[in-house]
Amino acid sequence: MEFIKRKQVREVKIGDVLIGGTNPVAIQSMCNTDTRDIKSTVKQILDLEKAGCEIIRVAVPDMEAAEAIKGIKKEIHIPLVADIHFDYRLALKAMEGGIDKIRINPGNIGDESRIKQVVDMAKSRHIPIRIGVNSGSLEKYLVEKYKGVTPRGLVESALNHVRILEKYNFEDIVVSIKASSVPFSIEAYSILSDEIPYPLHVGITEAGTTWSGTVKSAVGIGAILSRGIGDTIRVSLTGDPVDEIYAAKEILKDLGMRKFGIEFVSCPTCGRTQIDLISIAKEVEQKCKNIDKDIKVAVMGCIVNGPGEAKEADIGIAGGKGEGLIFKKGEILRKVPEEILVSELMKEIDKL
Ligand code: SF4
Repeated sequence: MEFIKRKQVREVKIGDVLIGGTNPVAIQSMCNTDTRDIKSTVKQILDLEKAGCEIIRVAVPDMEAAEAIKGIKKEIHIPLVADIHFDYRLALKAMEGGIDKIRINPGNIGDESRIKQVVDMAKSRHIPIRIGVNSGSLEKYLVEKYKGVTPRGLVESALNHVRILEKYNFEDIVVSIKASSVPFSIEAYSILSDEIPYPLHVGITEAGTTWSGTVKSAVGIGAILSRGIGDTIRVSLTGDPVDEIYAAKEILKDLGMRKFGIEFVSCPTCGRTQIDLISIAKEVEQKCKNIDKDIKVAVMGCIVNGPGEAKEADIGIAGGKGEGLIFKKGEILRKVPEEILVSELMKEIDKL
């Protein structure tokens, strides 16, 4: 059953990935390597691909980075996005190099002729443009108009950039409007989504390190997606970008919006637990991470309540004292010693 009704927006094609329309919410990340270092950047992108990243962005701060796009593109398999601030020449070079999308704010490019060159090239090559407005860099006049940095101010800034592209009949637009406050972001995305028909890239910026940033992103992105808003997400973490992908997959999985292999559940343990369930749960979760099966696996702490509490699981284990049970849909299959509980469970998962 689908509980979240997504808002209908225009479909935009980024390389071979479609976002918006009826397409699933796409997962993206951003490299933290030096883009000019092609080898390291490609390696990171391949690791991200393996984890499930569907769109990847790289920073393009100078011409050398823009020139590296071509080399990076040749080695990877997912759409590549160039993140550019201000310099229209970098956008032109990145597009020449085969970039699949550029992130640039047209209002910051400069005079009309520069904007036109970027838009004309993007249009002729079917390269979408993402407008990315950030609470940390809201224009001064909007800060004054709204008496501070406010969701409405951010939306107005984004709309100003959107109108520039629309003036040139450019519609392959994606918009993001990022802040590090969750309630602020929810309000800003809610207002924005009522104003424009384009796909939205959702994220909470400066979310924090892997632990705190994952929780903050899950709360923020989850709240926005649950309102039907958002077509691609990026979890921003101060850490390994591969963790951004795992976090994004969990968010989408937990909202019931995408399926990514095994759904893992485990009990919180309590005074009835007589087995090292925390280690067992971690081991099983890790082993299940890359198994592509649409099943639910449960790791429960006790024989008395475990199989019953997790009866909707396709397969699971329940810990006893020095031993445990393997159960399937709440029915007990057999009793096994603790040392082989995990390996026996994995054998059963193999059979499913
Ligand atoms: S399954 Fe058993 S050990 Fe786990 S929380 Fe429930 S009662 Fe406690």
